[in-house]
Amino acid sequence: MRCTVIGNWGGCCRKNEACSGYLLTQDGFHLLLDCGSGVLSVLQNIIDLNDLHHIFLSHYHFDHYSDAGCAVYSRLVNMQVGKTKQKLHFYGLPNAEKFSELTWEPYSDITPVAASGRLQIGPFACTFQKTVHPVDCLAIRVEAGGKSLVYTADTGYFDGMAEFARDADLLISECSLYAPAGGEKAGHLNAEQAGLLGARSGCRTLLLTHLPLYGELERLREQAKKNYHGRLLMADKLMAIDLED
Ligand SMILES: [Zn+2]
Ligand SMILES: [Zn+2]
Repeated sequence: MRCTVIGNWGGCCRKNEACSGYLLTQDGFHLLLDCGSGVLSVLQNIIDLNDLHHIFLSHYHFDHYSDAGCAVYSRLVNMQVGKTKQKLHFYGLPNAEKFSELTWEPYSDITPVAASGRLQIGPFACTFQKTVHPVDCLAIRVEAGGKSLVYTADTGYFDGMAEFARDADLLISECSLYAPAGGEKAGHLNAEQAGLLGARSGCRTLLLTHLPLYGELERLREQAKKNYHGRLLMADKLMAIDLED
């Protein structure tokens, strides 16, 4: 399984970069985790938009889903001009108007996901965990090719997330804040908490992402290292991480 960081910024993105978006690839099959602002543009450095058919949305904050609507428009145009015959499939929490709006037959459809549910998307076996956030939000665990990846999406700290990410080969953890800012009620992790999550989960590699647009980013790494002593990476545009079979 390969994970390519498409976007790594929380809230808004830097010039020519993107908010949350992670492209998972296994045996030529692609699954995009989140589709925030800028993701569709950056993604085209890696694949043609007509080769992407599956998008998981963790929640409906703009930095995680705002490009999803344009993905539908892209599919509409490209199906109409004969460049692809395959529709686009979205997976996410139901009962949100923003999710329902992504259905536009015959170009796109939606599959509701429950926190307790399981989903097989091509080679990817997916399970979910409700996070601590001001709106309903799902973390996702993906298993494929004998490897495991967990994406926290947006969350405050709670021990259940460490359990959900137990022994993951790659833990993509949000890291929105510099310690000591934050706390459980913030709905986001500071760097020390992201490090703690990595340590308690026992993950092989910890990738810090959903980074703040201010401050010295290297401080995040130093703060996370107080708690996490394994392989630590800072997410960067188009960074590719291979989880070898
Ligand atoms: Zn966010
Ligand atoms: Zn959010």
